[in-house]
Amino acid sequence: MDRTWVFETQDAGSTPAKGTMKTTELLPVYIELLPEQIEEGKVYISKKYGVAIHLCACGCGEKTIMDFKPNWKDGWTLIENPDGTVSFSPSVGNFAGQNPYHAHYFIVNNKIIWC
Ligand SMILES: [Zn+2]
Repeated sequence: MDRTWVFETQDAGSTPAKGTMKTTELLPVYIELLPEQIEEGKVYISKKYGVAIHLCACGCGEKTIMDFKPNWKDGWTLIENPDGTVSFSPSVGNFAGQNPYHAHYFIVNNKIIWC
């Protein structure tokens, strides 16, 4: 019989495999230095260095870096809401990696709003 068995090797609760899930929400994590390990569903914000990093919300695993340095006119604006959520302006377009500009979305009150 030519049947190929595919086994699910991930433990329950582990990070989904790349490309399987779109991110719907990003939780802000305030840090000073950008971490080596970046988890899906989180946006790491370093106010000291004016930079935020998250994994592309399409699930491809591409790192997306946003600068929000106040004096850099090409950067993003970080909006911190009173309820603890964050928004970024303008939208995020992921034009890195092998599939340029494949993802375009807004981050509004921690939520991913697809364009
Ligand atoms: Zn992507």
